Amino acid sequence: MDCPICTAALRRIRYEGVEINTCDGCGGEFVGPDQIAHIVNIRETKFASEKPPAAPCFGPPEPRADRTLNCPKCSGNMAPMNYATDTGIFVDRCGACGGLWLEASELERIQETLEQWQDAAPQRIRALGDDLRTAQRRADRLASGQFGPSRFALVNAVLNRLIDAA
Ligand SMILES: [Zn+2]
Ligand SMILES: [Zn+2]
Repeated sequence: MDCPICTAALRRIRYEGVEINTCDGCGGEFVGPDQIAHIVNIRETKFASEKPPAAPCFGPPEPRADRTLNCPKCSGNMAPMNYATDTGIFVDRCGACGGLWLEASELERIQETLEQWQDAAPQRIRALGDDLRTAQRRADRLASGQFGPSRFALVNAVLNRLIDAA
């Protein structure tokens, strides 16, 4: 498996108990759909951040006109997406196998953002109100559309966790 950005050979590593592929050249990481679900659902890594949680950022990603990535695993076309609907972290997702290409530190940003949001969930639920319900409806809509079931399960798990914590 080679890096879709810099073509260096990807190296298999264990991260949070699952196998992912990392690029020593550019710091990017390829993570399969089951692996990313596992990583965001455990909290082995504790992020000690002074920053307040990032504000949710709804909406589709800006098109990245400068590149089209092919999946390092299956060569499928990868398209940018707003991770978990509203993190504002734009990652590339393979339409064929559901794998994610994460640039250097994006995996940590995803974990940190989701963990901060979980911790701040009650306040966030109150602050979000209608936005959250809109996101839930959007997730339902996406589930029957272009995104596969594993993505739907992940988005729903995150939203349900937020709602349960409120
Ligand atoms: Zn690379
Ligand atoms: Zn793929």
